[in-house]
Amino acid sequence: MADFWTQFLQLLAKIVIPDWGTVIAVLPILLVLGVLGPVMTLLALGWAAAAVREHRGHARLASIEARSAARDVLGVPIVPPNVPYCARDALLFAPRETRCSVCGRDLQVRCPVDGTVRPAARQVCAACGTRFVLGELPALVAASPGGPPPGGAAAA
Ligand SMILES: [Zn+2]
Ligand SMILES: [Zn+2]
Repeated sequence: MADFWTQFLQLLAKIVIPDWGTVIAVLPILLVLGVLGPVMTLLALGWAAAAVREHRGHARLASIEARSAARDVLGVPIVPPNVPYCARDALLFAPRETRCSVCGRDLQVRCPVDGTVRPAARQVCAACGTRFVLGELPALVAASPGGPPPGGAAAA
Protein backbone atom coordinates (compact mmCIF):
# COMPACT_ATOMS: atom_id res chain seq x y z
CA MET A 1 0.00 0.00 0.00
CA ALA A 2 2.80 2.36 0.94
CA ASP A 3 4.46 1.50 -2.35
CA PHE A 4 1.32 2.49 -4.17
CA TRP A 5 1.26 5.89 -2.44
CA THR A 6 4.88 6.50 -3.26
CA GLN A 7 4.27 5.80 -6.91
CA PHE A 8 1.12 7.87 -6.83
CA LEU A 9 2.94 10.84 -5.26
CA GLN A 10 5.75 10.57 -7.78
CA LEU A 11 3.22 10.56 -10.58
CA LEU A 12 1.46 13.53 -8.98
CA ALA A 13 4.78 15.36 -8.67
CA LYS A 14 5.43 14.91 -12.39
CA ILE A 15 2.02 16.37 -13.19
CA VAL A 16 1.97 19.18 -10.62
CA ILE A 17 5.61 20.24 -10.57
CA PRO A 18 6.39 21.47 -14.05
CA ASP A 19 9.57 21.02 -15.97
CA TRP A 20 11.50 24.04 -14.70
CA GLY A 21 13.90 24.05 -17.61
CA THR A 22 11.03 24.50 -20.01
CA VAL A 23 9.35 27.06 -17.76
CA ILE A 24 12.51 29.18 -17.50
CA ALA A 25 13.00 28.94 -21.25
CA VAL A 26 9.52 30.23 -21.98
CA LEU A 27 9.46 32.64 -19.03
CA PRO A 28 10.22 35.73 -21.13
CA ILE A 29 7.44 34.78 -23.53
CA LEU A 30 5.10 34.16 -20.60
CA LEU A 31 6.09 37.53 -19.16
CA VAL A 32 5.44 39.25 -22.44
CA LEU A 33 2.12 37.55 -22.98
CA GLY A 34 0.98 37.46 -19.37
CA VAL A 35 2.21 40.81 -18.06
CA LEU A 36 3.15 43.11 -20.91
CA GLY A 37 0.15 42.08 -23.00
CA PRO A 38 -2.46 43.21 -20.50
CA VAL A 39 -0.35 46.24 -19.56
CA MET A 40 -0.03 47.30 -23.18
CA THR A 41 -3.74 46.71 -23.68
CA LEU A 42 -4.54 48.84 -20.64
CA LEU A 43 -2.16 51.55 -21.80
CA ALA A 44 -3.69 51.52 -25.27
CA LEU A 45 -7.16 51.76 -23.76
CA GLY A 46 -5.97 54.60 -21.53
CA TRP A 47 -4.50 56.45 -24.49
CA ALA A 48 -7.69 55.93 -26.47
CA ALA A 49 -9.81 57.17 -23.59
CA ALA A 50 -7.55 60.19 -23.12
CA ALA A 51 -7.70 60.93 -26.84
CA VAL A 52 -11.50 60.76 -26.77
CA ARG A 53 -11.61 63.02 -23.69
CA GLU A 54 -9.22 65.47 -25.31
CA HIS A 55 -11.26 65.47 -28.50
CA ARG A 56 -14.45 66.17 -26.57
CA GLY A 57 -12.66 68.87 -24.59
CA HIS A 58 -11.58 70.57 -27.79
CA ALA A 59 -15.08 70.40 -29.19
CA ARG A 60 -16.42 71.96 -25.99
CA LEU A 61 -13.78 74.69 -26.09
CA ALA A 62 -14.55 75.43 -29.71
CA SER A 63 -18.22 75.90 -28.92
CA ILE A 64 -17.49 78.61 -26.32
CA GLU A 65 -14.74 80.27 -28.34
CA ALA A 66 -14.94 84.02 -28.48
CA ARG A 67 -15.09 85.83 -31.80
CA SER A 68 -14.05 89.35 -32.58
CA ALA A 69 -16.76 91.94 -32.85
CA ALA A 70 -17.07 93.70 -36.20
CA ARG A 71 -16.18 97.38 -36.10
CA ASP A 72 -17.87 100.36 -37.70
CA VAL A 73 -16.08 103.03 -39.76
CA LEU A 74 -14.87 104.71 -36.58
CA GLY A 75 -13.42 101.45 -35.27
CA VAL A 76 -16.09 101.13 -32.58
CA PRO A 77 -17.02 97.48 -31.99
CA ILE A 78 -20.51 96.62 -33.21
CA VAL A 79 -22.15 94.55 -30.50
CA PRO A 80 -25.38 92.77 -31.43
CA PRO A 81 -28.04 92.71 -28.70
CA ASN A 82 -28.40 89.61 -26.54
CA VAL A 83 -24.76 88.63 -27.14
CA PRO A 84 -22.40 88.58 -24.15
CA TYR A 85 -19.37 90.67 -24.98
CA CYS A 86 -16.18 92.06 -23.50
CA ALA A 87 -15.94 95.78 -24.18
CA ARG A 88 -12.22 95.79 -23.36
CA ASP A 89 -11.27 93.10 -25.91
CA ALA A 90 -14.15 93.69 -28.38
CA LEU A 91 -14.97 89.99 -28.24
CA LEU A 92 -18.37 88.35 -28.61
CA PHE A 93 -19.10 85.21 -26.63
CA ALA A 94 -21.51 82.28 -26.77
CA PRO A 95 -24.86 82.90 -25.02
CA ARG A 96 -23.97 80.99 -21.84
CA GLU A 97 -20.69 82.78 -21.17
CA THR A 98 -20.49 85.40 -18.43
CA ARG A 99 -16.74 85.92 -18.13
CA CYS A 100 -14.17 86.98 -20.72
CA SER A 101 -11.75 84.16 -21.49
CA VAL A 102 -9.04 86.68 -22.38
CA CYS A 103 -9.07 89.28 -19.58
CA GLY A 104 -11.32 87.50 -17.04
CA ARG A 105 -13.70 90.45 -16.66
CA ASP A 106 -17.46 90.00 -16.40
CA LEU A 107 -19.12 90.10 -19.81
CA GLN A 108 -21.84 92.55 -20.65
CA VAL A 109 -24.97 92.08 -22.72
CA ARG A 110 -27.10 94.69 -24.47
CA CYS A 111 -30.88 94.60 -24.18
CA PRO A 112 -32.48 94.08 -27.64
CA VAL A 113 -35.42 96.31 -26.68
CA ASP A 114 -33.94 99.47 -25.16
CA GLY A 115 -30.20 98.96 -25.55
CA THR A 116 -29.53 98.97 -21.82
CA VAL A 117 -26.21 97.29 -21.05
CA ARG A 118 -26.13 94.93 -18.08
CA PRO A 119 -23.80 92.19 -16.77
CA ALA A 120 -24.25 89.02 -18.81
CA ALA A 121 -24.72 87.07 -15.59
CA ARG A 122 -27.93 89.04 -14.95
CA GLN A 123 -30.65 87.54 -17.09
CA VAL A 124 -33.33 90.23 -16.90
CA CYS A 125 -33.01 93.82 -18.14
CA ALA A 126 -33.44 96.23 -15.25
CA ALA A 127 -35.06 98.85 -17.52
CA CYS A 128 -37.71 96.89 -19.45
CA GLY A 129 -37.67 93.41 -17.91
CA THR A 130 -36.65 91.66 -21.14
CA ARG A 131 -35.10 88.32 -20.36
CA PHE A 132 -31.80 87.36 -21.95
CA VAL A 133 -33.04 84.45 -24.10
CA LEU A 134 -30.47 81.84 -25.05
CA GLY A 135 -30.48 80.65 -28.63
CA GLU A 136 -31.90 83.83 -30.21
CA LEU A 137 -28.41 84.89 -31.21
CA PRO A 138 -28.39 83.88 -34.94
CA ALA A 139 -31.67 85.59 -35.85
CA LEU A 140 -30.69 88.78 -34.04
CA VAL A 141 -27.29 88.87 -35.69
CA ALA A 142 -28.86 88.38 -39.12
CA ALA A 143 -31.39 91.14 -38.42
CA SER A 144 -28.86 93.71 -37.18
CA PRO A 145 -29.08 96.58 -39.69
CA GLY A 146 -26.25 98.58 -41.21
CA GLY A 147 -23.28 96.73 -39.83
CA PRO A 148 -20.94 94.67 -42.01
CA PRO A 149 -21.39 90.90 -41.96
CA PRO A 150 -19.40 89.10 -39.25
CA GLY A 151 -15.78 88.93 -40.32
CA GLY A 152 -16.39 91.33 -43.20
CA ALA A 153 -14.49 94.18 -41.58
CA ALA A 154 -11.45 92.00 -41.00
CA ALA A 155 -11.48 90.73 -44.59
CA ALA A 156 -11.80 94.24 -46.10
ZN1 LIG B 1 -11.90 90.70 -22.10
ZN1 LIG C 1 -34.32 96.39 -21.73
